[in-house]
Amino acid sequence: MFVKKDFWSLLCRGRKKKIVTLVLILLFLLNAMFYVSIELYNTIKKRTNNSWMDSLRYDPDSYVDSSGMRVIVGHYVGGNSGGNLSAETINSNNYNPIKGAGEGGRPVQMSQREIITARELYSLHSYNILVSDKISINRSLPDMRSESCKNVVYEIENLPTASVIIVFHNEAWSTLMRTVMSAILRSPPVLLKEIILVDDASDRKYLGKELEDAVSGLDKVQIIRSANRTGLVGARLMGARAATGNVLVFLDAHCEVTTGWLEPLLDRAGSDDVFICPHIDLLSDDTLAYTKSIDAHWGAFSWRLHFRWLMPSNEVLMIKAKNPSKSYPTPAMAGGLFAVRKSLFWRLGGYDEGMVIWGAENLELSWRAWQCGARVEITSCSRVGHIFRRHSPYKYPGGVAKVLNSNLARAATVWMDEWAEFFFKFNPSVGNIRDKQNVAERYEIRKNLKCKSFKWYLENVWPQHFFPTDERWFGRIKNEKGSCLGVASSTPGLGGPASGVGCGGDLDLERLVVYTPEGKIMADEGLCLEQGNGRAVWKSCSDSKKQIWEQSGPRLKTVDGLCLSVVLNESKDGIGDPLTSKRCMNDDKQIWHFERVPWR
Ligand code: UDP
Ligand code: MN
Repeated sequence: MFVKKDFWSLLCRGRKKKIVTLVLILLFLLNAMFYVSIELYNTIKKRTNNSWMDSLRYDPDSYVDSSGMRVIVGHYVGGNSGGNLSAETINSNNYNPIKGAGEGGRPVQMSQREIITARELYSLHSYNILVSDKISINRSLPDMRSESCKNVVYEIENLPTASVIIVFHNEAWSTLMRTVMSAILRSPPVLLKEIILVDDASDRKYLGKELEDAVSGLDKVQIIRSANRTGLVGARLMGARAATGNVLVFLDAHCEVTTGWLEPLLDRAGSDDVFICPHIDLLSDDTLAYTKSIDAHWGAFSWRLHFRWLMPSNEVLMIKAKNPSKSYPTPAMAGGLFAVRKSLFWRLGGYDEGMVIWGAENLELSWRAWQCGARVEITSCSRVGHIFRRHSPYKYPGGVAKVLNSNLARAATVWMDEWAEFFFKFNPSVGNIRDKQNVAERYEIRKNLKCKSFKWYLENVWPQHFFPTDERWFGRIKNEKGSCLGVASSTPGLGGPASGVGCGGDLDLERLVVYTPEGKIMADEGLCLEQGNGRAVWKSCSDSKKQIWEQSGPRLKTVDGLCLSVVLNESKDGIGDPLTSKRCMNDDKQIWHFERVPWR
């Protein structure tokens, strides 16, 4: 007390004392306010930096790779189509274009309040419906074609005509209509015979009379309705049967086509031996921005038959560099967007009608095309944007697994020969239902068309494939210390630093590798073990010498004569520890056991 009083009396007295106290309090308050506002700013910044979509459930089967190409989900997680939303919300069409929104393919941003609504509505379509409803169905888009594509001159009068077929199940009104309008606006009228919308038993109210009214004013657009939910195969077949044009052009119901999209498709499809796909660009599921996807890509599939985009072979890249406006072959198509001469479509057996709802029909069609004497190609000159979704918004009658597995079982049984045995062996849930599939008619098609084997397909269409073959060793490569070679990463196809992994059982595909006669160690998803700078890594298989491992007794040697070694950190068995190649010596860590596993 004494000290305090003394202190104040030293500093000031009377009124002065009050003033100083007040100033001190004020300073304290100012400081506190400053602190609070900084904190507030940081939280808001954090919120806006993290896309609101990131907070949605992460789906490990879906990702955007470094080049910005969204890798399509192979096995979808079925959605709950609206979840807890009210019937009124689910059934209303809230299309309300804002002037300028999304024009030129630009992203649409939302206010903080709208973000909350968008999040609530997300499960309806698995894309941002709030943003879609703000964008005009006639919006402008950039011309994404390369100069060489723009320079190609087509003799329009000699091109076949197109029947554009768009199937949909509970699609949003604005995305569906934008698909239709983009095709009307950007197709030469003489080439566009008709647009056939096939409604696969949607139950959204706005897709009834409201949709009919909307298209009634549009020349050439008609709606066909399926009484029961048949799935995309059944719906596309309905469209194909009704088509009167020369070429069937299939589009998903959430696409936007760009300038000059149709001519290259019709030009190539006219030749009657090819299923021709446009170059699929990206429509963001969040902002609906139109962005270019990676310049050259082709479609293929993983050991589990998940569709994947991969880099084309060097040979294809070279042909493409020389002649960028020429279409190039792809082992498989994504499925949603392609054109084919109607006569070829039916001659090759249309679609497998036994396939329900969604999935695997793209692989079946691709294998059938190649094996039965046709081709599957992509033309970079036809640019179409598509909303790639993280998961499927629809209901799958009987469950997703049941639907997908039966489709996969059908496709594999009919077309994959020995590799069907491989697929069924390592995917017993599909293998168990293989005998339940009635595929006699599809076999008949294969026989009548004298189609080639899957071995021929792998060797000639996709020689860069990473499947086991009779010439390739398949099994587990186990270190003397106890860990195995395998890709630990959870993101398919992304690779990364290589570590020892637990060895797993004989059905554990993640722990099994292909070892080729030329010395490549291949894992699923097209990843090869490569000696990087310092550490061994899993990287996309290529012609690099760094991916060659010569077997020398129990050792694996690089072309420089170094030995693959596990670097023990804390563990005794090397699980989780890095792999690298080192000077060869008498060391357990460089000893590998090759445990063969029959692949079929
Ligand atoms: N579709 C359909 N019936 C179904 C499932 C899908 O008509 O039971 C339609 C869907 O509306 C879309 C197309 O088939 O236009 C392809 O489906 P989706 O876009 O979900 O497949 P993805 O592009 O994601 O592979
Ligand atoms: Mn789609």
